[in-house]
Amino acid sequence: MEAFERNIRKVEPYVPGEQPRQRVVKLNTNENPYPPAPGVERALKELDTADFRLYPDPACSVLVDAIADFYKVGRDQVFVGVGSDDVLSLCFLTFFNSDKPILFPDITYSFYKVWAQLYRIPYECKRVDEQFRIVREDYYGENGGVIFPNPNAPTALYEDLELVEDILRHNRDVIVIVDEAYIDYAGPSAVELVDRYDNLIVTQTFSKSRSMAGMRIGYAIANPKLIRYLNDVKYSFNSYTLNRASLVCGAEAVKDRAYFEETVEKIKATRERAMERLGSLGFSCTRSSANFLFATHPDCDARELFEALKREGIYVRWWDSERIRQYMRITVGTDEEMEKLFAFLEQYLSKGE
Ligand SMILES: *Cc1c(COP(=O)(O)O)cnc(C)c1O
Repeated sequence: MEAFERNIRKVEPYVPGEQPRQRVVKLNTNENPYPPAPGVERALKELDTADFRLYPDPACSVLVDAIADFYKVGRDQVFVGVGSDDVLSLCFLTFFNSDKPILFPDITYSFYKVWAQLYRIPYECKRVDEQFRIVREDYYGENGGVIFPNPNAPTALYEDLELVEDILRHNRDVIVIVDEAYIDYAGPSAVELVDRYDNLIVTQTFSKSRSMAGMRIGYAIANPKLIRYLNDVKYSFNSYTLNRASLVCGAEAVKDRAYFEETVEKIKATRERAMERLGSLGFSCTRSSANFLFATHPDCDARELFEALKREGIYVRWWDSERIRQYMRITVGTDEEMEKLFAFLEQYLSKGE
């Protein structure tokens, strides 16, 4: 090791799902199989490229206003960023500054560990139970903050707001972040708790239910004071985070509630059919409240199946990680995409017998 390397900030990076260039059945990164709301295309066509020479609005007002209207919260309760990864990373930097460890589940979004390491935040992983459920009592002790996704990823399990509120009640002295990347496919959102718990931050994203992973838009909803703290850090870091196209396209996407609800319902319907079908093929899945399935099969090795699917041009996600090595995470695609998956699985399983 060269001497200068000793002072380099080193981190074991998050490994994103593959983004293959060729046409494949892509069920590996939980994108939406349907296009964004029609208004997005119109807004993009109406953009005046001459304006690209100018910096975008640092306050992101058109988008913040659209989100505030949709969720019926104040404009001063909304913060937007370049995907919720950007928002979450800024939240770690801003709110997790204690010498005590922050807490999150052992099976969860793998970025949390990366940010904790990058920002040198002490952390402790709390074991989810044998059914992959969050154990609320694990979050009662002293800590430097709490974060968990609801629904959790990659388990797809949704915890009732009663559990979320219980964890909030036991953690009035620290910030609790609920990462709701998949909430639109699940049940009630913790956004409704924001006015009662001033230590709560809820983050959501345009990447899944709003079909805009490529535009990179995420947001946080919290009380105005926490939003101000977030903005202070953002303005000390990079003031112009969202570009002009993302701001107007994002605002258009939020305004079309009907299209949003329709595509969410389509995905939920496909999910239910897919769970049944996988069940009839001998898989067991967790009760999914997201746009993906977490599935295991008693007679086949998940890694081998993952590799076989990939050779067939069907991409799903698999982790070489302790408790979930025999599981695959399968994004809910269109019905046609799911049929291709099932056709292959049928053939694969019949060969094994
Ligand atoms: C997809 C995802 C995110 C981040 O998505 P962005 O594309 O950065 O908005 C955050 N948390 C979880 C649990 C996710 O699955």
